[in-house]
Amino acid sequence: MVKYIFVTGGVLSSLGKGVVVGSIGLLLERSGFNTDTVKIDPYLNVDAGTMNPYMHGEVFVTEDGGETDLDLGHYERFLGKYMSKLNNITAGQIYLSVLEKERRGDYLGQCVQVVPHVTNEIKERIRHVAKARGADVLIVEIGGTVGDIEGLPFLEAIRQMKLEEGPSNTIFIHVALAPIITTGELKTKPVQHSVQELRRIGIQPDIIIVRSGRALNDDERAKIALYGNVPPKAVFSDPDTDSIYEVPLILYKEGLLSYIQELLGLPRREPELSDWVDFVEKTKKYRRKVNIAMVGKYTKVRDSYISIVEALRHAAAHLGIGLNLEWIESTDIENGVYDLSRAGELEGAIILPGFGRRGTLGKIEFIKRFRESGKPILGICFGMQLMVVEVARNLLGLKDANSTELDPNTPHPVVDMIPWQKNIEKIGGTMRLGARRINLVRDSIIWGLYRASPIYERFRHRYTLNLKYVDQLEKAGLRITGWSDEGFAEVVELNNHSFFLGVQFHPEFKSRPLNPSPVYKGFLQAVLEAARSD
Ligand code: GLN
Repeated sequence: MVKYIFVTGGVLSSLGKGVVVGSIGLLLERSGFNTDTVKIDPYLNVDAGTMNPYMHGEVFVTEDGGETDLDLGHYERFLGKYMSKLNNITAGQIYLSVLEKERRGDYLGQCVQVVPHVTNEIKERIRHVAKARGADVLIVEIGGTVGDIEGLPFLEAIRQMKLEEGPSNTIFIHVALAPIITTGELKTKPVQHSVQELRRIGIQPDIIIVRSGRALNDDERAKIALYGNVPPKAVFSDPDTDSIYEVPLILYKEGLLSYIQELLGLPRREPELSDWVDFVEKTKKYRRKVNIAMVGKYTKVRDSYISIVEALRHAAAHLGIGLNLEWIESTDIENGVYDLSRAGELEGAIILPGFGRRGTLGKIEFIKRFRESGKPILGICFGMQLMVVEVARNLLGLKDANSTELDPNTPHPVVDMIPWQKNIEKIGGTMRLGARRINLVRDSIIWGLYRASPIYERFRHRYTLNLKYVDQLEKAGLRITGWSDEGFAEVVELNNHSFFLGVQFHPEFKSRPLNPSPVYKGFLQAVLEAARSD
């Protein structure tokens, strides 16, 4: 019998519900229950791939090529296991499937309705994930906030699931915000109201987790318990922390794990957390901070690059250093708002992934600066492609060299669309997606980082280094040091430079707190070495 934990959110979005889900997942997984996590997104997009990172933050890519909600990244980092595209259910997928069934005649004679057809489809999918993934416990996070119109069918579906699966196999956890207002008071009313909203739909939470700027006191806890219709021991406090990786430890200390085990009738087991505790300690103790430039186009919304930031955090903790990330909007380099002479204080730079022309000139200028100064620079995906363009322009003298994504008529298309991509008409879900095998060339920077070959990393792109230019680029000092089985150039690095490395893949997606990505760790190590020899 699978146990289900449904997690809803109240008061506002971006509360850190994904971190709570990841934390509960870690505690259960570490106490020996095969745990899996699902994110439900009530929007009508079929997947997150067609959304702008400004709207919805990073698109997380799974091993099997799903373009998913960034919460799946939290799940992977906390649970330490791969999610699949199945683990992200959207309203778009649900409606698409219901409408296809309707056209096929599966519901012939019936009036197709939200209840029961859409709700049945939702329940079926949730149960299918539990089965396909072999979960003992499935944690299902309902995205958005209780009270949103588009969330209603999902809440109705999970309400029905409690009846069908039985109360000891299903619990509801509500995560809501208690804001601290300008007088310094912590207000519980928004939490009370969001629980009321939930109860109006027929869902009584079993557990309430309160996000707030500080821990709850006994009075506040009692008040939320009274109005939320739960015993005080069912109210847990999730205060702000310096590191999200502390959240599972805080919730564990409050007794959340044993309470969940009690409610679900699971055997009482303690989790093994010592390595996790060590890691959290490391995030707090560091010798010094390094200044890293983060050059991109969506730098105003930090969630746009969340896996990269987390990958840097994992690597920094292992190296005993702290991070000072300087976010540079690449259009600001072009229009002079960011003065490039300030780059002298930066010790390393990451050229972030992206799409489209806006801001690329600024990135190319920045790459040139770092190439000339000899300081470590790492290009991810689009960042790698622009490194190739920069080298072609400034070392090969091909002045108008470009990627055809940015200039379809360039005389020197050093980066061009992947041939099989050229016949694709539909945009959704059609990039080169998911993990691929990459063979590394020995005696290279990248080989030194992984110390193994082949490696498997995840991709999300349509363009690639144009093989016609490989010879010329290599003569200019740019080595290709990683090749996929399909024959694409996946890693570039520059001779006679401390660390000028571009990777077509996204190593950040596989970085874990206890097992940082070799690329990000190697980059920070290079930053430390370059500073030492300065
Ligand atoms: N726009 C580039 C491409 O499609 C890079 C994509 C990315 O950075 N994820 O190839």
